Amino acid sequence: MTIQENFVPAAPADIAESPELAALRKRVREVLSEHVTPERLNKFDEAEEYDVELFREIAAAGLLKLDGELHGPGPKHQSQAVVLEELGAGPTSVGVSMVVQYMGVQLLHSYGTGEQQNEFLAPLHAGKAKMSFGLSEPDGGTDVARAMKTRATLLEDGSYSISGQKKWIGGAMDADYLILLARTSEVARSAIDGITMFLVPRSMPGIRTDVIDTMGIRGLAQYDVFLDDVRVPAANVLGEVDNGFRQVLNTLNGERLNGAAVALGIARGAMETAIGWAQQRHAFGRAVGSFQGLQHNLVDASVKIESARLLLRQAAEASDTGPSTNETWSAMAKLAASDAATTTTDVGMRIMAGWGFFRGLPMQRYFRDARLYTFAPLTDEMTRNYIGEKHLGLPRSF
Ligand SMILES: Cc1cc2nc3c(=O)[nH]c(=O)nc-3n(C[C@H](O)[C@H](O)[C@H](O)COP(=O)(O)OP(=O)(O)OC[C@H]3O[C@@H](n4cnc5c(N)ncnc54)[C@H](O)[C@@H]3O)c2cc1C
Repeated sequence: MTIQENFVPAAPADIAESPELAALRKRVREVLSEHVTPERLNKFDEAEEYDVELFREIAAAGLLKLDGELHGPGPKHQSQAVVLEELGAGPTSVGVSMVVQYMGVQLLHSYGTGEQQNEFLAPLHAGKAKMSFGLSEPDGGTDVARAMKTRATLLEDGSYSISGQKKWIGGAMDADYLILLARTSEVARSAIDGITMFLVPRSMPGIRTDVIDTMGIRGLAQYDVFLDDVRVPAANVLGEVDNGFRQVLNTLNGERLNGAAVALGIARGAMETAIGWAQQRHAFGRAVGSFQGLQHNLVDASVKIESARLLLRQAAEASDTGPSTNETWSAMAKLAASDAATTTTDVGMRIMAGWGFFRGLPMQRYFRDARLYTFAPLTDEMTRNYIGEKHLGLPRSF
C-alpha cells in the first residue's frame, strides 16, 4: 500500500469542533481561497511588504470583531484561534499582524473607557485602523520591566511627555495607533509596577520609525520606534496609571493562545506541503514518502501537531468558559505549538532537500517564520519557567 492510499489530509474541522467554530473556519477558508494564491504569498514575502489589501478583506469579513461587542466582552479566544490557525497556515505574516490587532482589541475591551472604545476600538473592529504594540526595548524583552528606559513624565498641564525607544515593533510604521508602555514612577513597589499604557496616534510629532532587517515574518516589518518628547493627553492613558504592566500581564493568556494558534497553522501548512512533496517526488523508482525514515519523521511531527491542537482547543475553551482561564494549559499549548512548528518545518526542509532551499516554494518561508514563536510573545524558556512554577509547584527558577 502506498502513502497516497493511506493519506487523510489534515482536517481539523472534523475533530469535534462546535458548529459555530466549524462555520467560522469555513468562512475564513473561503476568504483566503478567494484572495490568496501561492504566488501572492511569495510576492509579499519576497518584497518584504505587508499585504494590506488582504488585511482589509479579512476585516471586511468581520474577522477582527468576531463575536466581540463594542462596549462588552471581546471576541472569544476559541474564535480568534480558528482565524489565526488558518492565517498561520497561509499568509503567516498577516496572521502575526492579526495577533497584534487582537491584542489591541483585547486591551481596549478590558481597560478602555467608553470614549476610548468609541474612538479607538470601533475603527479597529471595522479594520479601518491598525494598531501596533510597543513593549520590548533594546536592552531586553523578557525582563522588559527592569530594562525599560522609556519614560513618560507628567507635565503641569496634565499631559505626558514620552521619550525612549521601543524595539521590534511589528507594523509600527503602517499603524494608526501605538499602544506603548512607559515608566511613569521610579519609586514603585516592584519593577513591574510604576509602568503605564498609552494610546498614541502614530503620526504624533516626536515619533520616528526605522525598519529592522529580519530573517522571518518578512511580510510584516518590525521597527525601532524612537520617541522624543511625544506629548500625549491624560485621556490617552489606557487603564490605570502605574499599573499598565500588570494589566498587560493579565491579557498575556490571550497572547499565548494566539501565538500557539499561528504556530499551529505554520506547522499545518508545512505538513501539507511536505506530504504533497513526499507523494510526488520520486527516488529509486518510488515516492520519497515511501521511505520509512521520512515517514517516521512525518508521523512524529504530526503527533506534535495534533497534541498542540488538542491542548490549544482545551486551553481556549477553558479561557472562554471558565471558571478559571487555566493559564498553564495556554502556556502548554504555546510550547507544544512552537515545538510542532519548528519540528515540522525542519522535517519539511529535510524531505524537500534542495527544493526546501528554493525561495519560489513555501517551505523555507515556514521554516524561517516558525522561529518567531520560540520567543514571542514570551520565550519558550520563560514559558517553561511558568509551567514549572504554576503547574508543577516547583520553586520559581529566576
Ligand atoms: C519578528 C518579531 C516581532 C516582534 N513583535 C513585537 C511587537 O510587536 N511588540 C513588542 O513589544 N515586541 C515584539 N517583539 C519582541 C519579542 O517580544 C522579544 O524578542 C521577546 O520578548 C524576547 O525578548 P529578547 O529578544 O529581548 O530576548 P532576551 O530577553 O534578551 O532573552 C535572551 C534569552 O535569555 C532567556 N532568558 C531570559 N530570562 C530567562 C529566565 N529567567 N530563565 C530562562 N531563560 C531566560 C530567553 O528565554 C532567551 O533565550 C518581536 C520580535 C520579533 C523578532
